Amino acid sequence: MSNRRNFIKKAALGTIGVSTVNTWSSTFVSDQTSNLASSKKKPVIISTWNHGFEANDKALSELNIGKTALEAIVSGVGVCEADPNNRSVGYGGLPDREGKVTLDACIMDHNSNCGSVSFLQEIKHPIAVAKKVLIDTPHVMLSGKGAQDFAISNGFLKENLLTPESKKDWKQWLIKSKYEPVINMENHDTISMLILDGNGDLFGGCTTSGAAWKMHGRVGDSPIIGAGLFLDNDVGAAAATGLGEAVIRTAGSAMVVELMRQGKSPLESCKEIVERIYNKHRNSKDLNYLQVGFIAVNKNGDHAGYSLRSGFNYAIYDDENGNRMEDSQFKMSWNN
Ligand code: ASP
Repeated sequence: MSNRRNFIKKAALGTIGVSTVNTWSSTFVSDQTSNLASSKKKPVIISTWNHGFEANDKALSELNIGKTALEAIVSGVGVCEADPNNRSVGYGGLPDREGKVTLDACIMDHNSNCGSVSFLQEIKHPIAVAKKVLIDTPHVMLSGKGAQDFAISNGFLKENLLTPESKKDWKQWLIKSKYEPVINMENHDTISMLILDGNGDLFGGCTTSGAAWKMHGRVGDSPIIGAGLFLDNDVGAAAATGLGEAVIRTAGSAMVVELMRQGKSPLESCKEIVERIYNKHRNSKDLNYLQVGFIAVNKNGDHAGYSLRSGFNYAIYDDENGNRMEDSQFKMSWNN
C-alpha cells in the first residue's frame, strides 16, 4: 500500500495541474494558485455515495498518468454514467413519468469556468458534453434539444438509455403513478466529485438522471452552478445530492463555499446549510421525504460530508490514507 501511495504521490507532484486549454471562456488567471494544502494530502478526491469509490479510483488513475483534473472528473464519474446497474446516473438511470431518461450534469474548474447540460436525452455521458460546453462554447449551460444537437455535432452517439430493468420499474410505477418525489438511496444518488489537485487547485463535477418519476422537463440542482456544485479556487468546493428543489431554493453549494470563506470548516459549513434547508422546509410537506447531503473540501484538503437524514456516505481519497468510504454525520434519522 505504501509503495502505491508513494507512486501516487510522485505521479501527483510530477504531472498534475496541466492547465486546461480554454478557447472561449475568459479565463480569470488566479493570482492565488496557492500551495496551502498539505502535500501529504494532495491530491484529494471526494465523491458522493458508494459509487464514488470506483469513480475516485478511476479519477486517481487518470491523474497518475498526467491527465488534468477536469479529464479525471469526466472519466471518474463516467464510470457511473456507463454502468447500467447504476439506477440514478446516465445509462440505466430511472426515467421520468413519461418513461424518458433525462440527464443533468455540470463541471467547473479552478478558474471559475463552467459547463453544464440539462434535460439532455439519449447521450450516455452528459459530463463529457458539459466539459465540451466549458471548453468550446462561450456559454455555461445548454439544455434539451440544443444540448443534444451540440453533443451529436461533437461526435457523441445517440443511444437508448432506458434499460429493460429501468423500463420494468417504470411500468410498475405507472400502476399507481404516485406523483410525488421518491427519495431513498436507490432513487437518489447523483454522483458529484470534487478534486483538489497536486497544484492545490480545485475542480468539480456532478452528473445524474435526477429524481425518479419526475415531471418531463424537470431540471434538478445538479446542472446548476451554485446549487448542485460550486467552487471558488481561493476557498473551497462543495457539491450536493438529494432533493434538488431544496438545494436550488437555498443556493446550497454556493452557500457552503461562502461559509468556508468566512473561516468555517467544511463540516461546519455543510452542517449550517443543511440546518438552513431544514428550517426553510420545516412547515412543508416536502419534509416527509426530504433528504439532502453535501460534500465539501477546502484549500487545505480538509473535507466533510453532512446530510439531513441518515444514510448518506461518500468516498474520499487522499495521499495519506488512500481511497475509503466514510459515513456522513447527519441531523436526524428517517423516523423523525
Ligand atoms: N439532486 C438530484 C436531483 O434532484 C438527485 C439526486 O441527488 O439523486 O435531481
